[in-house]
Amino acid sequence: MDGEAFHTVPVDAPEKGRSVIGSLSLIGSSVAAAWADYSGPVTSSLARTYQVRTYGCQMNVHDSERLAGLLEQAGYAAAGEGEQADVVVFNTCAVRENADNKLYGNLGMLAPAKAARPGMQIAVGGCLAQKDRQTIVERAPWVDVVFGTHNVGSLPTLLERARHNEQAQVEILESLQVFPSSLPARRDSAYSGWVSISVGCNNTCTFCIVPSLRGQQADRRPGEVLAEVQMLADDGVLEVTLLGQNVNSYGVEFGDRLAFGKLLRACGDIAGLERVRFTSPHPKDFTADVIEAMAQTPNVCHQLHMPLQSGSDRILKSMRRSYRSGRYRQILADVRTAMPDAAISTDIIVGFPGETEQDFIETLDVVRDAEFSTAFTFQYSPRPGTPAAELPDQVPPEMVRDRYQRLTSVVEESAWVDNRRQIGREVEVLVAAQGRKDGATDRMSGRARDGRLVHFSPAGAAGQQPIRPGDVVTTVVTGAAPHHLLADGPPTSHRRTRAGDRHQAGERPTTPGVGLGMPGLGRPSAPVVPATAPTAACSAP
Ligand code: SF4
Repeated sequence: MDGEAFHTVPVDAPEKGRSVIGSLSLIGSSVAAAWADYSGPVTSSLARTYQVRTYGCQMNVHDSERLAGLLEQAGYAAAGEGEQADVVVFNTCAVRENADNKLYGNLGMLAPAKAARPGMQIAVGGCLAQKDRQTIVERAPWVDVVFGTHNVGSLPTLLERARHNEQAQVEILESLQVFPSSLPARRDSAYSGWVSISVGCNNTCTFCIVPSLRGQQADRRPGEVLAEVQMLADDGVLEVTLLGQNVNSYGVEFGDRLAFGKLLRACGDIAGLERVRFTSPHPKDFTADVIEAMAQTPNVCHQLHMPLQSGSDRILKSMRRSYRSGRYRQILADVRTAMPDAAISTDIIVGFPGETEQDFIETLDVVRDAEFSTAFTFQYSPRPGTPAAELPDQVPPEMVRDRYQRLTSVVEESAWVDNRRQIGREVEVLVAAQGRKDGATDRMSGRARDGRLVHFSPAGAAGQQPIRPGDVVTTVVTGAAPHHLLADGPPTSHRRTRAGDRHQAGERPTTPGVGLGMPGLGRPSAPVVPATAPTAACSAP
């Protein structure tokens, strides 16, 4: 282990059953050294239960599937709904505003539960852990384990080490040691799966903390990616989303700038795989071969999430985003020429330092012309550790709020116009687990091929068999709102799928690390809990 790159900082943690509020003190390195190489079986964790609470983007949602897979491999079982778990893992995000205050608030709420439950452990991982390191155990000394974005695989060992030593363990690596996809995963869904193609990012957008927390881009080999996609498809999964901070620079590490388009085409050869999506692309690296691959590969969905961030070239330059609005508009035009039915969404930041009213109006102009199907809009606020936080001319918060409201209304109107165009069209819907209002409205929900959310009536479907999450229906759009479509007539077809069978049986795929064999199926006790709705993979400020 490299001392420069490997910080193990054991600190005093409460003894089991003792008051959980203890003071922080560093211990000598001998205990750490004794445990530093521990990688043996986690024998005492049998029958202990866990819960993973996830914050932030799809990357974290997928990392949490890996954390769940690791813990189950180590003998833990998912805690039942409403049950207090023996181990609570926070998979944190550093991007959202006040992420740290929210984390400490949540940790504080767990302190009494831990005091009342000898042996309970709390672990904090993800981007905020990578950023704040031992500060977390200084502010919340009842936390047992802090691990970073580069050592997700260490969690079971760190939990065991903390329990054995009765001392908190903080382990943060400076660079990726093991690609997370080589770890087992307990998947959340029987019909839809995430597959990482890369981690980290080589860009230097001034508002973004990702490069400093996730490191330089590391690409998986195409064979490994495809093996994982194949495993999921063999298991009945119908839809796969390829994940990377910047999927369009995929291949830069192994010297093939066309690798992403080739990967999309190769996904087209995977039997049983009906839908391929990806997030996030980057306008700088988005090339014509990817548009061709999307248009020519039948199972690649005509859905594109293309982060704009700003319509002002001056602000894009200050953000260190190396495309300009003209290039962005050209990409959208090329995509719509090749795929007139494409639904295009975006990310936009308002109130970036130095943004003038004129800059903002240029953003609104692009938004009006682009006719996005949806947009993730963000009010800029400085994030410690990012270059933009140091920039002069920070825009006053009330001006940011005003622009945000004006932007939101333009985005909503534009999305509503685009959604109204779908009325009368037949859409194919991959049925999803029940939505919040589905019970009250007697509707079910799912995604159309272009990613739009569809609430549909299952009444009168052809055949008598009930429609289940994981099944596929076709139905005709009867209404539209800015964020969803309605289809209140009877479905025109209903196809029962293996994914639907497995969802109904309560089974979810459990994939091993890449290339290590076929996935198994098991009955999970509880899903990994997304604590907030995931954001787009890249760039929320
Ligand atoms: S915003 Fe996206 S492209 Fe830019 S540095 Fe962050 S992750 Fe990379």
